[in-house]
Amino acid sequence: MDNSFFEISAAARKIGEKAMEITRPCFERIDEITEYNQLKMLRAFQDARVSESLFSGSTGYGYDDRGREALDRIFAQVLDTEDALVRHHFASGTHTLTVALFGVLRPGDTMLSVTGVPYDTLQGVIGIGKSYSGSLKDFGIKYEQAELLADGGIDYDGIRAALRPDTKMVYIQRSRGYSLRPSLLAGDLEKISTLVRGIAPDCIIMLDNCYGEFVEKDAPGKYVDLMAGSLIKNPGGGIAPTGGYIAGRADLVEKCAFRLTTPGTGKEIGCTLGHSRELFMGAFHAPHVTGEAVKTAVFAAAVFGLLGYNVTPGYDEIRGDIIQAVLLGNEERLIRFCQGIQSASPIDSFVSPEPWDMPGYDSKVIMAAGAFTLGSSIELSADAPLREPYAVWMQGGLNFHSGKTAVLLAADNMSR
Ligand SMILES: *Cc1c(COP(=O)(O)O)cnc(C)c1O
Repeated sequence: MDNSFFEISAAARKIGEKAMEITRPCFERIDEITEYNQLKMLRAFQDARVSESLFSGSTGYGYDDRGREALDRIFAQVLDTEDALVRHHFASGTHTLTVALFGVLRPGDTMLSVTGVPYDTLQGVIGIGKSYSGSLKDFGIKYEQAELLADGGIDYDGIRAALRPDTKMVYIQRSRGYSLRPSLLAGDLEKISTLVRGIAPDCIIMLDNCYGEFVEKDAPGKYVDLMAGSLIKNPGGGIAPTGGYIAGRADLVEKCAFRLTTPGTGKEIGCTLGHSRELFMGAFHAPHVTGEAVKTAVFAAAVFGLLGYNVTPGYDEIRGDIIQAVLLGNEERLIRFCQGIQSASPIDSFVSPEPWDMPGYDSKVIMAAGAFTLGSSIELSADAPLREPYAVWMQGGLNFHSGKTAVLLAADNMSR
């Protein structure tokens, strides 16, 4: 590895070389997935007949915005769904998921989470823990939860016991989020889907697909009725400046569009301003960039595994998301890890992250983020709450070459 621009100790370089060696078969597998998804994306662009004229954007109501329609078609095609709603109007992943939930759930309905407690920011939306005015609970939507097994696996018997013929929605979170459970693979989605459809054929199977896009060949559209994700994660390719997508059955996507804009106008309005080109370009890059992020995660798993730390997933485990957790064991190492990652960022490399009291957390949190887009986590980033088991969660990396250097600088910074 070239040492001309960054000072990496001989010891770290040696570990890096060993990590490259043992991950070779994993990288070959990632390349194969990336190529498949990249060509699927290219095919979708051509089938949607994308031309430069679609980038011009619209203002005001945004009627007849052909670029917007083409991007919806592209997302539907690559995610194997009937329809999609891809909009810069979604302010965050949580907002996108919220629109999907409010779009299809009605008072008296029951939503059943089958992957334990949902991602932190969704809890206030549902009305568990903190209950905000306007939460699903406030609108009379009931919530139930099937826990995961002790090892983080899916409890199929538990789902069978909790599911009733009239359960309106089964909710699945694919990514581990900030937990230590494994991410779900397409095969898990298929098993859940078969189980649910056998008991409650009309139940809507909804997927929080954040961090899962393009990590596997098999897209989730075959197994779920509706899914949502954020464009400042995998499917924005590091280029989309904001936004989200909802994809799934056409009748459900329409309901979500009615919620995002108005009942009646739905997908017909919502001007794209000047953002279409960035969203197209981001989508086109997304499969490749996701592959680079997965490589960065695999390399980090190998390096820190070789250094004797517990990592999850292991470098050679099959992944359903781009997140890598490393159990560092104490506070000082968490801080040094995050400072090492930050020092390798293209943006704000000269600042040093410090632990702070983040609202909503019961312990201090440290974060490394040197991103072009505020909060983007397809760009290399790391977060760690300063509490047991002193784990850091890292994700992203627009290209493996800089991701690799960041991992080695983090390792080096810990041994200093
Ligand atoms: C990121 C994420 C969200 C929420 O997205 P925000 O953009 O942070 O609001 C929800 N679920 C999962 C699994 C996520 O990773």
